[in-house]
Amino acid sequence: MITRDDLSTFRAMVGEQYVSTGESILHLHSHDESYHAPALPDVVLWPHNTGEVSRIVRYASERKIPVTGWGVGTSLEGNPIPVNHGIIIDFQQMQGILAVRPEDFQVDVQAGVVYKELNKTLSRHGLFFPPDPGAAATVGGMIGNNASGIRTVKYGATKDHILRLAVVLPRGEVIRIGNRARKSSSGYDLIHLFVGSEGTLGLITEATLRLVGLPANFMALRVTFPEAKNATNTVFQVMSSGFSPAAMEFLDSNVIGVLNRDRSLAMQEQPTLLMEFNGFSEEGLIAEMAYIEEICKENGSTFIDKGIGQTERDRLWEMRHLTFESIKRQHPGLLPLIMDVAVPLSRYSDMVAFIKREVDELLAYVFGHAGDGNIHVIVMDAAADKQRWGRVEEANRCIVEKALEFEGTCTGEHGVGIGKRCFLPQEHGDSLDLMEKIKQLIDPEGLFNPGKIFL
Ligand SMILES: Cc1cc2nc3c(=O)[nH]c(=O)nc-3n(C[C@H](O)[C@H](O)[C@H](O)COP(=O)(O)OP(=O)(O)OC[C@H]3O[C@@H](n4cnc5c(N)ncnc54)[C@H](O)[C@@H]3O)c2cc1C
Repeated sequence: MITRDDLSTFRAMVGEQYVSTGESILHLHSHDESYHAPALPDVVLWPHNTGEVSRIVRYASERKIPVTGWGVGTSLEGNPIPVNHGIIIDFQQMQGILAVRPEDFQVDVQAGVVYKELNKTLSRHGLFFPPDPGAAATVGGMIGNNASGIRTVKYGATKDHILRLAVVLPRGEVIRIGNRARKSSSGYDLIHLFVGSEGTLGLITEATLRLVGLPANFMALRVTFPEAKNATNTVFQVMSSGFSPAAMEFLDSNVIGVLNRDRSLAMQEQPTLLMEFNGFSEEGLIAEMAYIEEICKENGSTFIDKGIGQTERDRLWEMRHLTFESIKRQHPGLLPLIMDVAVPLSRYSDMVAFIKREVDELLAYVFGHAGDGNIHVIVMDAAADKQRWGRVEEANRCIVEKALEFEGTCTGEHGVGIGKRCFLPQEHGDSLDLMEKIKQLIDPEGLFNPGKIFL
């Protein structure tokens, strides 16, 4: 329970207007974008730098108050919901871009910077930070969940782009880990212990990110197929063709249908692959396009829309970025359960076929980052109707178990949060015990983002 003395102490630490117990502010920080039950924090704090975060955490540790980090709350598994109440540390006042180092392909940032804003600044240097989760996420939240997205197939996930971190540990100590070298084999890999730990081990206050050069030119294709298996077989063949797609997405005919209705489009309502390739010369991209088209035709494609250059890429890809909003808007009053699994590429076709059968009788939309074996299913239903919602949760369970049977993972990119905790024993076996010991070692009081990852 937060007392008046606690609030006075926080005001002295971060400034009067950066402490709130206002009802609407607490409500805003009680839920993410998932269906998981909200929980109100006792207070929200907006620190400005690592020193302030450290002082808050040190005090919270002495008072045994739970602390949960908050980016912008776009998670999909309940990851930032403060289930044990306490303090939310919102990183909104920590959006500094501290140093751009184009000669090293690096940038130093504070954790609250929104990656889309960061990329606007970096584009002036011909660089970008590739992990692209779509929503307006912060770098701290992306590190928390090890987010990835449409460009992961070529450039990797968030974990592949972190060189250094400043981390506040659960008793308030600040550690700085990593270095600026492009590679290192020095000691235990603590960077990757904190990436994806969902704020349960430490709060990230600053990061040095590894960047890549902006592509010189683009080529994109939207290809439709008679059956999902024609599209998913094509994924494997394109990936093994020697060309390296910068993005490769699968969308089932339901997704195309909802986009047509919501955006007044006229796309063929068939399973679809959306692809992007980056290159230098137009001639090179034209040759690549011909080869990819050939693969699609061999797999029975029924329609190909294609283009070269950034404008054409943006035209062909625009609808992909509208998917979530269109699905939600077309089903007012229903809630989404957003499933997220990933499997080895060789099992992608089987996994999609299994999912299609499993959700056949539900209001379901299947799509995903096909190039890295990632599949999402959005099922819209009435969460208040326990029987119907139970059927949706049962489908989620069957899909995750099938992904594990295929030697995949219960979460490709959304993290464990609340929703995937029950699958960790099955996925990790004995190594879950080591994870719990690490949590116990770093956060013995269990004050950092309690109730997440472990049951
Ligand atoms: C429409 C939509 C599409 C999405 N698509 C994708 C996608 O393609 N790929 C993908 O990966 N995700 C996707 N997501 C999920 C989400 O956007 C990402 O997980 C994102 O990284 C969350 O960032 P955030 O700033 O909102 O973090 P939050 O949700 O606020 O927090 C995420 C986690 O990190 C912790 N945290 C926050 N800040 C810090 C910090 N500084 N230090 C330590 N821990 C911290 C939180 O406690 C929480 O556990 C999507 C979400 C939506 C709504």
